[in-house]
Amino acid sequence: MLTVNAYAATSADAPLTKTTIERRDLGPHDVLIDIAYAGICHSDIHTVRGEWGPIEYPQVVGHEIVGHVTEVGAEVTKHQVGDRVGVGCMVNSCGECEQCQAGKEQYCLKGNIQTYGGVDPADGTITQGGYSEAVVVNEDFVLRVASDLDIEKVAPLLCAGITTYSPLRRYEAGPGTKVAVVGMGGLGHMAVKIAVAMGAEVTVLSQTTSKRDDSLRYGAQAHYATKDAETFEKLAGSFDLIINTVSAKIDVSAYLRLLRAEGVMVNVGAPSDPLEVPAFALISGGLTWAGSMIGGIAETQEMLDFCAEHGILPETELISAEQINEAYERVLASDVRYRFVIDAKTFA
Ligand code: NAP
Ligand code: ZN
Repeated sequence: MLTVNAYAATSADAPLTKTTIERRDLGPHDVLIDIAYAGICHSDIHTVRGEWGPIEYPQVVGHEIVGHVTEVGAEVTKHQVGDRVGVGCMVNSCGECEQCQAGKEQYCLKGNIQTYGGVDPADGTITQGGYSEAVVVNEDFVLRVASDLDIEKVAPLLCAGITTYSPLRRYEAGPGTKVAVVGMGGLGHMAVKIAVAMGAEVTVLSQTTSKRDDSLRYGAQAHYATKDAETFEKLAGSFDLIINTVSAKIDVSAYLRLLRAEGVMVNVGAPSDPLEVPAFALISGGLTWAGSMIGGIAETQEMLDFCAEHGILPETELISAEQINEAYERVLASDVRYRFVIDAKTFA
């Protein structure tokens, strides 16, 4: 076993603190990754604060991981020592059910094994995430990261990138489609950049206009404040597709009114409070209200390659491990522009 430095939550309300964790010995299909950078996703915060239900502490979170392979198991064929690789939200799945067979491991019928907080089939322990110096992962859940994607910025693609790419692909964002992105945080700003690269006409719906310049710089055509009631009158019936990335409860029916007939609103935001939709809000326009969770491994590789091809990278703010707690407060205050990335050297 390998002992590595990490930052862990020890309770729902205590700050994260420095600790050490054990990484398992390499199995025949395992890869040891020396982590270079780890992104901070709002899901990390929901998780450590128990907002999605009780968890076991201490827990190391982090599922936006990029680094280099330093050792491979005897039967590994997909990766070699020295490769630049990434790990996202999953580290395993059953591999046999119809969802896994279809390359949709995120919807594994037995439940995918999450990068943190899951039960590791290899040794029965609770999986520990990317806020650490190194991680051991089954080769099938390790992604190739092209060398033209800046290693200091690329980590957030592993969650924020794929979570927005997948529904944009599934609902065919592209030339001639009007897409609205609700909430411009980590996921939201990736949704904007990716939808623009796919050729869609993109509008950002943010609480205020303070992020307008950024929206336009990322290629959006318009940016409106949702605190302004006029926004909802002006944009009624405008969009084919709405991607809701908001981490808190919103008035879904107000946004559904912004769809054209038979339009689709996809929820990727995961607030702890239930969202409510009156039946008539959907029936009247023949609308679809959908959900989406990350993306499969093949689709994640496709997204990484798409971003490399289109020169898409997240906007990041590099921090050290001791700034994680302060960064969490800024994420909660919608004051992240637009993803914090931890320099893994600072876990030492
Ligand atoms: P984030 O960086 O905090 O972004 C969320 C954005 O939502 C904020 O920047 C803010 O944008 C807006 N917002 C926050 N509170 C709001 C409120 N009370 N009312 C209206 N708007 C509000 O979070 P993230 O990392 O992008 O994650 C967003 C959500 O997606 C989280 O719930 C996370 O757990 C979830 N998630 C889901 C998946 C999945 O697979 N489905 C994957 C990853 C994350 P403005 O400042 O523009 O208003
Ligand atoms: Zn995430």
